[in-house]
Amino acid sequence: MTKSISGKTKVCGLIGDPVEHTMSPAMHNAAFKEAGLDYVYVAFEVKSGSLGKAIEGMRAFNIAGLNVTIPHKVNVIPFLDKLDPLAEKIGAVNTVVNDNGVLTGYNTDATGFLQPLLEREIEPEGKYVALVGAGGAARAVSFILAERGANLVIINRQEELDWAADLAEKITQAFGKAVNAMELTRGNLAGALEKADILVNATSVGMSPNDDETPVPANLLKSGIIVYDVVYNPIKTKLLKDAEAARAETISGIDMLVWQGILAFEKWTGIKPPFDLMKAEAVKFL
Ligand code: NAP
Repeated sequence: MTKSISGKTKVCGLIGDPVEHTMSPAMHNAAFKEAGLDYVYVAFEVKSGSLGKAIEGMRAFNIAGLNVTIPHKVNVIPFLDKLDPLAEKIGAVNTVVNDNGVLTGYNTDATGFLQPLLEREIEPEGKYVALVGAGGAARAVSFILAERGANLVIINRQEELDWAADLAEKITQAFGKAVNAMELTRGNLAGALEKADILVNATSVGMSPNDDETPVPANLLKSGIIVYDVVYNPIKTKLLKDAEAARAETISGIDMLVWQGILAFEKWTGIKPPFDLMKAEAVKFL
């Protein structure tokens, strides 16, 4: 946040429900201050029935940018004027830019997931990826990986296997590339991991307070594989601890979280904020 709010201060924010526990105001306000930008970021609790009014409010109040979180990432789309092609393919938006009254939706969850891989010089093209989960995060992850040329298998528990099959079908349609969906069993995991270069956990398994849970048995992990957990609380999940013990390379969901923020900030302001500063602010919350 800038030192003092004035008549010129631009407003950005988050809409979702709930929003009390979000780290985004801390991350963005620290970055605005660091960059000397006269902006402020606030969290707005918006109930599902009020989403349309909230977006009208964004126009009326000339709010410069919004992040969008659960439960609005899909339903916000009809209220926007334009969609970035990747967000359109994914069918979900987490960032809105207000450009002189024209609202454009982006998905920086997807590009934020990609960035920690690219930073480590891991290019998804041609890599085999075992993706566990088929919910909202898995959707963003699977589309960006498919767009970057990875070979995907989506693994989800039996109860909701249809979700995984549906996601696989959508990706096949969007990218003309066959994607398999399979049930989350030890046997299927073992088979997928034998071939995989990258394992991604996009389920909520292992998230606080269930820190002692993991979606993948430790003895299936091996060195040479990259294990990327989208869960960011705790920063080091049981899956990542097990992966480290197996001498696999690990990436924490905290990096994805920070990068989705960096990329949103950049879209609103044209400035790329420092990763370390935003990560330090996020970590204070955990
Ligand atoms: P979601 O849409 O509710 O999806 C949750 C996924 O987890 C589903 O595939 C679900 O399977 C699976 N799951 C839940 N409990 C399970 C269990 N006991 N065993 C096996 N699978 C289970 O949630 P989401 O929005 O995708 O979020 C998932 C995680 O990603 C959360 O921890 C969230 O905090 C994190 N996340 C991180 C970032 C980041 O920036 N790092 C961004 C977004 C989300 P079913 O389909 O069978 O229910």
